[in-house]
Amino acid sequence: MTSDPRPNRTHILHRDPSRVLPVAVAGDGPFVIDSAGRRYLDASGGAAVSCLGHSEHRVIAAIKAQLDRLPYAHTSFFTSEPAEALADFLISRAPEGLEHVYFISGGSEANETALKLARQYFWEKGETGRRHFIARQQSYHGNTLGALSVGGNPARRAVYEPILLPVSHIPPCFDYRNRRADETSEEYGLRAANELETEILRLGPETVIAFIAETVGGATCGAITPAPGYFRRIREICDKYGVLLILDEVMCGMGRTGTLFACEQEGVSPDLLTCAKGLGAGYQPIGACLMSGEIYDAITQGSGTFQHGFTYIGHATACAGALAVQQVIEEDGLLRNCQAMGDALGAALRDRFGDHPHIGDIRGRGLFRAIELVEDRAAKRPFDLKLKLHAKIRAEAMAEGLMVYPGGGTIDGRSGDHVLMAPPYIITQAGVDMIATRLAAAVDRAVAAVM
Ligand code: PLP
Repeated sequence: MTSDPRPNRTHILHRDPSRVLPVAVAGDGPFVIDSAGRRYLDASGGAAVSCLGHSEHRVIAAIKAQLDRLPYAHTSFFTSEPAEALADFLISRAPEGLEHVYFISGGSEANETALKLARQYFWEKGETGRRHFIARQQSYHGNTLGALSVGGNPARRAVYEPILLPVSHIPPCFDYRNRRADETSEEYGLRAANELETEILRLGPETVIAFIAETVGGATCGAITPAPGYFRRIREICDKYGVLLILDEVMCGMGRTGTLFACEQEGVSPDLLTCAKGLGAGYQPIGACLMSGEIYDAITQGSGTFQHGFTYIGHATACAGALAVQQVIEEDGLLRNCQAMGDALGAALRDRFGDHPHIGDIRGRGLFRAIELVEDRAAKRPFDLKLKLHAKIRAEAMAEGLMVYPGGGTIDGRSGDHVLMAPPYIITQAGVDMIATRLAAAVDRAVAAVM
């Protein structure tokens, strides 16, 4: 037998083929267990997915029951009880004006769906000249080509740049990096939102379809909360020019920030809202695109058909799993725990890192928190991105038995490495303390390695 030159002997094209990954074999509440019996505290919910931990028996039972009854039925022929029940559940709790839903298999598909619904809405109304989307720098909306086009992560876009849709990217609302010292948060929020109006006017309002933004920024920037009033001003601007507002809550939605939908805390309702990760909590792959009654009516009373569709839309077992997840969150009052433990995690992070010379910012809301690393705290100067400090922190955290979700700075070296945390809503104070202790050890070892 010839020896295999691959470091990681596998037929899978992994995200980072150079890394040898532990093999996950079991879950126990907030812990993932590998084949060597090591236990990892899942402080990031994978990528803000596993909001109920890894062994919620009520969800598993609901999925098994659905598999026994009917695993799947194609939506050209049937609807299903779990899909209808999940739609009723979501719409009865959705922000005002969101009246219908389209179920797909994940976040990228949810955003593709939103972009296409937005375009078709105007097409139905005869406004076919609307062809531009406006999005934000330092954002992430998924890896399919439409979602990647609106995303503002240069590293993820670079290879595909020539084949992406033309999209304008305005600066994000990012207090730590972009607020001037002479501005209040409210003043800054207004200024950041007004960048949208400037861009709409530059493009010509009659050409713009929609503005898309993460309500609370996630993977590319690390738990960036909007300034007070930012989204209310964004909503006003969209309404003024007849531009649709799409809020991407794939990561920050479904309770992650302490309310079922993050935009509830901003006092705005979008025209389209996408969610995914916490919807199925990792028990099933599922995403959803909620839409206003107006968009639904324009299509159903217009051409009659949304020009879209995938084999697995409205998957019966995925919908049954997601419904069970949402019922557990509600029955167990987990949004309250998300708020309380979110506050506790914020306090623990401030306690550990408040005076740390290389932590520039500690931010987030609910159980969606991040720290940003800087080489020089006073100047807010990031570490050289080539050092890949965030990846080193992930490796050190794994050695500590802790899963965190790191990201690199993305815009002209202006923002630094960050570490995102999104523990399950069942986390306890002991779990919060364990996250802070293990993360502090991992950060110190990783920083020492690059200094
Ligand atoms: N939108 C946001 C805000 C995300 O964080 C992600 C994934 O991280 C996506 C969209 C894409 O979701 P998926 O990976 O399920 O396609």
